[in-house]
Amino acid sequence: MQSLPLAICSINDDESDADSELTRQRILSAKQQLGNKVMILGHHYQRDSIVEHADETGDSFLLARKAADSKAEYIVFCGVHFMAESADILTSNKQKVVMPNVRAGCSMADMADLPDVEACWNELLNECQLDDPATRENPDSPAGKGEAFLVPVTYMNSSADLKAFVGYHGGVVCTSSNAAGVLEWALERAGENGKVLFFPDQHLGRNTALAMGYQEEDMAVWNPMAQPDWNDLNTSKFVLWHGYCSVHQRFTVEQIDNLRKENPDALVIAHPECERAVVDAADASGSTEMIRRFVADAPSGAVIGVGTEIHLVKRLDAQYPDKTVVCLDPGVCPCSTMYMIHPAFLADVLESLVAGEVINQITVPEQITDDAILALNRMLSITN
Ligand code: SF4
Repeated sequence: MQSLPLAICSINDDESDADSELTRQRILSAKQQLGNKVMILGHHYQRDSIVEHADETGDSFLLARKAADSKAEYIVFCGVHFMAESADILTSNKQKVVMPNVRAGCSMADMADLPDVEACWNELLNECQLDDPATRENPDSPAGKGEAFLVPVTYMNSSADLKAFVGYHGGVVCTSSNAAGVLEWALERAGENGKVLFFPDQHLGRNTALAMGYQEEDMAVWNPMAQPDWNDLNTSKFVLWHGYCSVHQRFTVEQIDNLRKENPDALVIAHPECERAVVDAADASGSTEMIRRFVADAPSGAVIGVGTEIHLVKRLDAQYPDKTVVCLDPGVCPCSTMYMIHPAFLADVLESLVAGEVINQITVPEQITDDAILALNRMLSITN
């Protein structure tokens, strides 16, 4: 599924007050009628008028766990497409996952597709003389002495067929909150002379490996649109896919410098989807859950610059009136695809459920589910 390009650069929830109150009442009424048959999950990057209706809010990892633990008949996922796919994979066949708007995708997830990843995979196996973990009797056990495997790791922000590819080939899914633990696991399975293929976000892969003590020289970038550099690829430990998040790519070191010029004591935290230089210049880096904890733990009166999506930053600022929480980029765009979940769409899907009709259901085919669940369960067991 291709996402729309980023197009909006201001937050404008404008419906008239009367219209938005009417929509709000439609949602409250439908939700009440559905009772515990429905669970609404809301990602941190959703607008406030969605988040207020969510039974659970969180990052993609936390919401995946909430979906996996839920007994609700309907999971309404207010996030982007790959998140709803993961929820469908992790829930039972009796449960139905729906999205308020199925066109809400993720431009980063779209940067890696199955044919390109398979082509990369085959070239790396051949050129770097690595083995496929799928050929092992037990791909979950650490590599033996002298063995060299190529272990695939996909960020949660990827389509279900890529998660299935990873699961089939003995790999694992990660999120920004557990990437270090997952990479450690993958390196053990790759063996001393093996490699990890990480996609689609090069920045999360690079920032995590650097934080684990690896150097830039240990990483090579795979760009499906360019000729491979086999010198770099052969000597690397990590092959990073040439993907990025259009929202987090906007943060710069200059923005951090400007904030510190105006507020010398300002604290700065950046999401690991930001470029390395930004993460290096920040005081801390972490997932949206970690950003929330960082702000909560900051002393009263602190000025905190945050490098992540604007809806979360504004919500944190409102939640902690004794602190000043600002977005590093004063002109930052919200994530345009997260923004496609409008309260009116939420009202529509809930009212349809009340009427006994399931619209906008996300269904991952059984074969893909069977393989993808291997990769997701590996992640959940590593992070437990
Ligand atoms: S913020 Fe970036 S990674 Fe997250 S959904 Fe939007 S485009 Fe995708």
